[in-house]
Amino acid sequence: MLRFAMATAAMAAGGPLAAALSVAALAAVQPVTAQTLTLRPAEGAAARVGEVQPLADGVWWLPSRFERGRQPDGASLILQGREGLVIIDTGRHAEHAGALREWARRRAQPIRAVINTHWHLDHLGGNALLRRALPGLRTHASAAVREAIERRMPASDADLARMLADPATDADTRRMIEIDRALYAERALLLPDVVLEEAPRDIELAGRALRVGVLRGVSGGDAWVLDRASGTLAVGDFVTLPAPFLDTACAETWRAAMGELEALPFERVVPGHGPVMSRDDFKRYRRAFEGLLLCATSDKPVAECSAAWVADLGPLLPAASQRAAAGMLQHYFAERLRGSAEDRARFCPG
Ligand SMILES: [Zn+2]
Repeated sequence: MLRFAMATAAMAAGGPLAAALSVAALAAVQPVTAQTLTLRPAEGAAARVGEVQPLADGVWWLPSRFERGRQPDGASLILQGREGLVIIDTGRHAEHAGALREWARRRAQPIRAVINTHWHLDHLGGNALLRRALPGLRTHASAAVREAIERRMPASDADLARMLADPATDADTRRMIEIDRALYAERALLLPDVVLEEAPRDIELAGRALRVGVLRGVSGGDAWVLDRASGTLAVGDFVTLPAPFLDTACAETWRAAMGELEALPFERVVPGHGPVMSRDDFKRYRRAFEGLLLCATSDKPVAECSAAWVADLGPLLPAASQRAAAGMLQHYFAERLRGSAEDRARFCPG
Protein backbone atom coordinates (compact mmCIF):
# COMPACT_ATOMS: atom_id res chain seq x y z
CA MET A 1 0.00 0.00 0.00
CA LEU A 2 3.03 2.24 0.02
CA ARG A 3 2.45 3.62 -3.44
CA PHE A 4 -1.17 4.18 -2.63
CA ALA A 5 -0.23 6.15 0.47
CA MET A 6 2.17 8.32 -1.49
CA ALA A 7 -0.36 8.96 -4.20
CA THR A 8 -2.81 10.02 -1.55
CA ALA A 9 -0.22 12.37 -0.10
CA ALA A 10 0.30 13.89 -3.50
CA MET A 11 -3.43 14.23 -3.97
CA ALA A 12 -3.71 16.05 -0.67
CA ALA A 13 -1.44 18.64 -2.22
CA GLY A 14 -3.95 19.00 -5.02
CA GLY A 15 -1.29 18.77 -7.68
CA PRO A 16 -1.80 17.53 -11.22
CA LEU A 17 -0.14 14.33 -10.14
CA ALA A 18 -3.30 13.55 -8.32
CA ALA A 19 -5.68 12.51 -11.06
CA ALA A 20 -3.16 10.36 -12.72
CA LEU A 21 -0.95 8.93 -10.04
CA SER A 22 -3.65 8.09 -7.58
CA VAL A 23 -5.58 6.02 -10.10
CA ALA A 24 -2.40 4.62 -11.58
CA ALA A 25 -1.41 3.73 -8.05
CA LEU A 26 -4.66 1.91 -7.61
CA ALA A 27 -4.07 0.07 -10.83
CA ALA A 28 -0.75 -0.93 -9.40
CA VAL A 29 -2.08 -2.25 -6.12
CA GLN A 30 -5.16 -3.95 -7.54
CA PRO A 31 -4.75 -7.31 -9.24
CA VAL A 32 -6.19 -5.81 -12.37
CA THR A 33 -6.56 -7.61 -15.65
CA ALA A 34 -8.84 -5.17 -17.40
CA GLN A 35 -8.68 -4.38 -21.09
CA THR A 36 -8.10 -0.80 -20.14
CA LEU A 37 -5.50 -1.72 -17.56
CA THR A 38 -3.42 -4.18 -19.49
CA LEU A 39 -0.67 -5.61 -17.36
CA ARG A 40 2.75 -5.04 -18.75
CA PRO A 41 6.23 -4.80 -17.30
CA ALA A 42 7.00 -1.13 -16.67
CA GLU A 43 10.69 -1.59 -17.20
CA GLY A 44 12.45 -2.46 -20.41
CA ALA A 45 9.26 -2.81 -22.44
CA ALA A 46 8.93 -0.78 -25.60
CA ALA A 47 6.31 1.88 -25.07
CA ARG A 48 3.20 1.19 -27.08
CA VAL A 49 0.68 3.68 -28.30
CA GLY A 50 -2.79 3.07 -29.66
CA GLU A 51 -3.68 3.55 -33.30
CA VAL A 52 -5.41 6.62 -34.65
CA GLN A 53 -8.89 5.51 -35.69
CA PRO A 54 -11.41 7.19 -38.01
CA LEU A 55 -14.73 8.23 -36.41
CA ALA A 56 -16.42 10.27 -39.14
CA ASP A 57 -15.57 12.34 -42.19
CA GLY A 58 -12.54 14.43 -41.19
CA VAL A 59 -12.63 13.13 -37.61
CA TRP A 60 -10.16 10.72 -35.96
CA TRP A 61 -9.47 9.51 -32.46
CA LEU A 62 -6.33 8.41 -30.64
CA PRO A 63 -7.61 6.31 -27.70
CA SER A 64 -6.62 6.79 -24.10
CA ARG A 65 -4.15 4.45 -22.42
CA PHE A 66 -3.95 3.41 -18.80
CA GLU A 67 -1.62 0.62 -17.87
CA ARG A 68 0.05 -0.79 -14.84
CA GLY A 69 3.19 1.01 -13.74
CA ARG A 70 2.38 3.97 -15.91
CA GLN A 71 0.20 7.03 -15.60
CA PRO A 72 -2.62 7.51 -18.09
CA ASP A 73 -2.83 9.34 -21.39
CA GLY A 74 -6.22 10.88 -22.13
CA ALA A 75 -7.78 10.35 -25.55
CA SER A 76 -7.13 12.82 -28.38
CA LEU A 77 -9.62 13.93 -31.02
CA ILE A 78 -8.24 15.03 -34.40
CA LEU A 79 -10.29 17.25 -36.73
CA GLN A 80 -9.50 18.09 -40.33
CA GLY A 81 -10.04 21.74 -41.28
CA ARG A 82 -9.51 23.52 -44.59
CA GLU A 83 -6.18 24.84 -43.34
CA GLY A 84 -4.93 21.87 -41.36
CA LEU A 85 -5.64 19.93 -38.19
CA VAL A 86 -7.13 20.78 -34.83
CA ILE A 87 -6.22 18.46 -31.95
CA ILE A 88 -8.21 18.24 -28.75
CA ASP A 89 -6.01 17.03 -25.88
CA THR A 90 -2.43 15.92 -26.37
CA GLY A 91 -1.85 13.12 -23.83
CA ARG A 92 0.92 13.03 -21.27
CA HIS A 93 3.66 10.83 -22.65
CA ALA A 94 5.97 11.61 -25.54
CA GLU A 95 4.74 8.45 -27.28
CA HIS A 96 1.18 9.78 -27.39
CA ALA A 97 2.01 13.31 -28.58
CA GLY A 98 4.65 11.86 -30.90
CA ALA A 99 2.04 9.57 -32.47
CA LEU A 100 -0.21 12.58 -33.13
CA ARG A 101 2.62 14.47 -34.74
CA GLU A 102 3.77 11.50 -36.81
CA TRP A 103 0.23 10.79 -38.00
CA ALA A 104 -0.15 14.42 -39.14
CA ARG A 105 3.26 14.35 -40.80
CA ARG A 106 2.44 11.20 -42.78
CA ARG A 107 -0.72 12.87 -44.08
CA ALA A 108 1.23 16.06 -44.83
CA GLN A 109 -1.21 18.04 -42.70
CA PRO A 110 -0.05 20.91 -40.47
CA ILE A 111 -1.30 20.87 -36.88
CA ARG A 112 -2.71 24.39 -36.59
CA ALA A 113 -4.38 24.43 -33.20
CA VAL A 114 -4.75 22.52 -29.95
CA ILE A 115 -7.57 22.73 -27.45
CA ASN A 116 -6.89 21.28 -24.01
CA THR A 117 -10.03 20.23 -22.14
CA HIS A 118 -8.37 20.68 -18.72
CA TRP A 119 -5.09 20.97 -16.87
CA HIS A 120 -4.43 17.37 -15.84
CA LEU A 121 -1.17 16.33 -17.43
CA ASP A 122 -2.68 13.34 -19.23
CA HIS A 123 -4.53 15.86 -21.45
CA LEU A 124 -2.05 18.74 -21.49
CA GLY A 125 1.47 17.36 -21.21
CA GLY A 126 1.80 16.54 -24.92
CA ASN A 127 1.63 20.28 -25.67
CA ALA A 128 5.31 20.50 -24.72
CA LEU A 129 6.46 18.08 -27.42
CA LEU A 130 4.15 19.58 -30.05
CA ARG A 131 5.17 23.13 -29.18
CA ARG A 132 8.85 22.28 -29.40
CA ALA A 133 8.29 20.71 -32.81
CA LEU A 134 5.80 23.27 -34.14
CA PRO A 135 6.64 26.76 -32.91
CA GLY A 136 3.64 28.42 -34.62
CA LEU A 137 1.09 26.15 -32.94
CA ARG A 138 -1.75 27.99 -31.16
CA THR A 139 -3.19 26.42 -28.02
CA HIS A 140 -6.57 27.12 -26.42
CA ALA A 141 -7.73 26.30 -22.90
CA SER A 142 -9.75 27.62 -19.97
CA ALA A 143 -8.47 30.16 -17.46
CA ALA A 144 -8.26 27.28 -14.97
CA VAL A 145 -5.52 25.72 -17.09
CA ARG A 146 -3.43 28.89 -16.93
CA GLU A 147 -4.00 29.14 -13.20
CA ALA A 148 -3.06 25.50 -12.58
CA ILE A 149 0.15 25.87 -14.57
CA GLU A 150 1.15 29.04 -12.75
CA ARG A 151 0.01 28.14 -9.25
CA ARG A 152 -0.54 24.42 -8.77
CA MET A 153 2.32 23.02 -10.76
CA PRO A 154 5.16 24.69 -8.82
CA ALA A 155 3.67 23.40 -5.53
CA SER A 156 3.10 19.96 -6.98
CA ASP A 157 6.65 19.89 -8.33
CA ALA A 158 7.94 20.52 -4.82
CA ASP A 159 5.80 17.66 -3.50
CA LEU A 160 7.17 15.35 -6.16
CA ALA A 161 10.72 16.39 -5.35
CA ARG A 162 10.09 15.42 -1.73
CA MET A 163 8.73 12.04 -2.82
CA LEU A 164 11.85 11.44 -4.91
CA ALA A 165 14.03 12.32 -1.94
CA ASP A 166 12.24 9.67 0.14
CA PRO A 167 14.19 6.41 -0.13
CA ALA A 168 10.94 4.49 0.38
CA THR A 169 9.63 5.67 -3.01
CA ASP A 170 9.70 2.67 -5.33
CA ALA A 171 11.11 2.52 -8.85
CA ASP A 172 7.77 2.61 -10.73
CA THR A 173 6.65 5.68 -8.81
CA ARG A 174 10.02 7.35 -9.41
CA ARG A 175 9.65 6.86 -13.15
CA MET A 176 6.15 8.35 -13.09
CA ILE A 177 7.34 11.29 -11.01
CA GLU A 178 10.28 11.97 -13.29
CA ILE A 179 8.02 12.11 -16.35
CA ASP A 180 5.77 14.66 -14.67
CA ARG A 181 8.66 16.73 -13.33
CA ALA A 182 10.12 16.94 -16.83
CA LEU A 183 6.79 18.37 -18.00
CA TYR A 184 6.70 20.82 -15.10
CA ALA A 185 10.16 22.00 -16.10
CA GLU A 186 8.67 22.91 -19.49
CA ARG A 187 5.43 24.28 -18.14
CA ALA A 188 5.81 27.56 -20.03
CA LEU A 189 5.11 25.44 -23.14
CA LEU A 190 1.86 24.21 -21.61
CA LEU A 191 0.33 27.68 -21.19
CA PRO A 192 -2.62 28.46 -23.48
CA ASP A 193 -2.19 31.18 -26.12
CA VAL A 194 -5.93 31.76 -26.11
CA VAL A 195 -8.08 31.57 -22.98
CA LEU A 196 -11.52 30.08 -23.72
CA GLU A 197 -14.54 31.87 -22.33
CA GLU A 198 -17.09 29.98 -20.29
CA ALA A 199 -20.17 30.90 -22.34
CA PRO A 200 -20.63 28.61 -25.37
CA ARG A 201 -19.55 30.21 -28.62
CA ASP A 202 -18.95 29.30 -32.24
CA ILE A 203 -15.38 29.50 -33.38
CA GLU A 204 -13.44 28.39 -36.42
CA LEU A 205 -10.02 26.80 -36.05
CA ALA A 206 -8.00 25.75 -39.09
CA GLY A 207 -11.20 26.32 -41.05
CA ARG A 208 -13.24 23.83 -39.00
CA ALA A 209 -16.48 25.07 -37.38
CA LEU A 210 -16.63 24.29 -33.67
CA ARG A 211 -18.81 25.17 -30.72
CA VAL A 212 -16.81 25.49 -27.54
CA GLY A 213 -17.61 26.21 -23.91
CA VAL A 214 -16.24 25.76 -20.43
CA LEU A 215 -18.03 24.07 -17.53
CA ARG A 216 -16.82 23.13 -14.06
CA GLY A 217 -16.73 19.84 -12.27
CA VAL A 218 -13.63 17.82 -13.05
CA SER A 219 -10.87 20.37 -12.65
CA GLY A 220 -12.32 23.84 -12.03
CA GLY A 221 -12.51 24.73 -15.73
CA ASP A 222 -13.34 21.95 -18.19
CA ALA A 223 -13.71 22.77 -21.86
CA TRP A 224 -16.03 20.87 -24.19
CA VAL A 225 -15.70 20.98 -27.95
CA LEU A 226 -18.48 20.15 -30.41
CA ASP A 227 -17.45 19.50 -34.00
CA ARG A 228 -20.47 20.87 -35.83
CA ALA A 229 -20.06 18.95 -39.07
CA SER A 230 -19.90 15.49 -37.49
CA GLY A 231 -21.76 16.02 -34.21
CA THR A 232 -18.73 14.73 -32.31
CA LEU A 233 -18.47 16.08 -28.77
CA ALA A 234 -15.18 15.96 -26.84
CA VAL A 235 -15.96 16.11 -23.13
CA GLY A 236 -12.56 15.55 -21.53
CA ASP A 237 -12.87 13.87 -18.16
CA PHE A 238 -16.55 14.58 -17.64
CA VAL A 239 -16.83 10.99 -18.89
CA THR A 240 -14.22 8.41 -17.89
CA LEU A 241 -14.12 4.66 -17.47
CA PRO A 242 -13.81 2.51 -15.48
CA ALA A 243 -14.91 5.16 -12.94
CA PRO A 244 -15.17 8.94 -12.70
CA PHE A 245 -11.76 10.46 -11.92
CA LEU A 246 -12.73 12.51 -8.88
CA ASP A 247 -9.29 13.64 -7.70
CA THR A 248 -9.85 17.36 -8.31
CA ALA A 249 -13.62 17.17 -8.71
CA CYS A 250 -16.54 19.15 -7.38
CA ALA A 251 -19.33 16.58 -7.50
CA GLU A 252 -22.16 19.14 -7.47
CA THR A 253 -20.93 21.24 -10.39
CA TRP A 254 -19.99 18.05 -12.28
CA ARG A 255 -23.55 16.77 -11.90
CA ALA A 256 -24.95 20.07 -13.25
CA ALA A 257 -22.45 20.14 -16.11
CA MET A 258 -23.57 16.70 -17.32
CA GLY A 259 -27.07 18.11 -17.88
CA GLU A 260 -25.69 20.98 -19.95
CA LEU A 261 -23.61 18.56 -22.01
CA GLU A 262 -26.60 16.33 -22.69
CA ALA A 263 -28.48 19.34 -24.08
CA LEU A 264 -25.87 19.84 -26.82
CA PRO A 265 -26.67 18.57 -30.33
CA PHE A 266 -24.16 15.71 -30.51
CA GLU A 267 -24.27 12.25 -32.04
CA ARG A 268 -21.20 10.76 -30.41
CA VAL A 269 -19.08 11.55 -27.38
CA VAL A 270 -15.34 11.20 -27.06
CA PRO A 271 -14.61 10.59 -23.35
CA GLY A 272 -11.31 11.49 -21.74
CA HIS A 273 -10.79 7.80 -20.94
CA GLY A 274 -12.69 4.91 -22.44
CA PRO A 275 -14.40 4.07 -25.72
CA VAL A 276 -16.33 6.48 -27.93
CA MET A 277 -19.99 6.62 -26.92
CA SER A 278 -23.32 7.14 -28.67
CA ARG A 279 -25.87 9.62 -27.30
CA ASP A 280 -27.66 6.74 -25.58
CA ASP A 281 -24.38 5.56 -24.05
CA PHE A 282 -23.82 9.07 -22.69
CA LYS A 283 -27.28 9.13 -21.16
CA ARG A 284 -26.63 5.76 -19.55
CA TYR A 285 -23.30 7.00 -18.18
CA ARG A 286 -24.97 10.12 -16.82
CA ARG A 287 -27.67 8.09 -15.06
CA ALA A 288 -25.01 5.83 -13.54
CA PHE A 289 -23.03 8.89 -12.41
CA GLU A 290 -26.07 10.48 -10.76
CA GLY A 291 -26.83 7.18 -9.05
CA LEU A 292 -23.28 6.97 -7.79
CA LEU A 293 -23.34 10.48 -6.29
CA LEU A 294 -26.70 9.78 -4.68
CA CYS A 295 -25.43 6.49 -3.25
CA ALA A 296 -22.42 8.32 -1.82
CA THR A 297 -24.75 10.52 0.23
CA SER A 298 -26.50 7.45 1.68
CA ASP A 299 -25.18 5.14 4.39
CA LYS A 300 -24.88 2.20 2.01
CA PRO A 301 -21.54 0.41 2.00
CA VAL A 302 -19.12 1.43 -0.77
CA ALA A 303 -19.31 -2.08 -2.21
CA GLU A 304 -23.04 -1.67 -2.74
CA CYS A 305 -22.65 1.71 -4.49
CA SER A 306 -19.86 0.23 -6.56
CA ALA A 307 -22.00 -2.76 -7.59
CA ALA A 308 -24.80 -0.37 -8.58
CA TRP A 309 -22.33 1.65 -10.67
CA VAL A 310 -21.28 -1.50 -12.51
CA ALA A 311 -24.89 -2.61 -13.00
CA ASP A 312 -26.02 0.84 -14.20
CA LEU A 313 -23.20 1.04 -16.75
CA GLY A 314 -24.10 -2.40 -18.09
CA PRO A 315 -22.39 -3.00 -21.44
CA LEU A 316 -20.33 0.22 -21.19
CA LEU A 317 -18.01 -1.43 -18.67
CA PRO A 318 -16.28 -4.65 -19.73
CA ALA A 319 -16.44 -7.37 -17.09
CA ALA A 320 -12.66 -7.32 -16.86
CA SER A 321 -12.74 -3.65 -15.74
CA GLN A 322 -15.20 -4.13 -12.89
CA ARG A 323 -12.58 -4.87 -10.29
CA ALA A 324 -10.60 -1.78 -11.25
CA ALA A 325 -13.77 0.30 -10.99
CA ALA A 326 -14.43 -1.03 -7.49
CA GLY A 327 -10.89 -0.25 -6.36
CA MET A 328 -11.04 3.29 -7.68
CA LEU A 329 -14.44 3.96 -6.14
CA GLN A 330 -13.30 2.71 -2.76
CA HIS A 331 -10.49 5.26 -2.97
CA TYR A 332 -12.71 8.13 -4.16
CA PHE A 333 -15.39 7.47 -1.57
CA ALA A 334 -12.78 7.73 1.18
CA GLU A 335 -10.92 10.71 -0.22
CA ARG A 336 -13.61 12.78 -1.86
CA LEU A 337 -17.26 11.70 -1.86
CA ARG A 338 -17.33 10.63 1.79
CA GLY A 339 -14.40 12.69 2.97
CA SER A 340 -14.75 15.55 5.44
CA ALA A 341 -16.86 18.56 4.47
CA GLU A 342 -13.56 20.23 3.63
CA ASP A 343 -12.50 17.34 1.38
CA ARG A 344 -15.80 17.39 -0.45
CA ALA A 345 -15.73 21.16 -1.00
CA ARG A 346 -12.02 21.44 -1.69
CA PHE A 347 -12.43 21.86 -5.46
CA CYS A 348 -15.84 23.54 -5.45
CA PRO A 349 -16.29 27.19 -6.43
CA GLY A 350 -16.53 29.85 -3.75
ZN1 LIG B 1 -7.71 12.31 -17.78
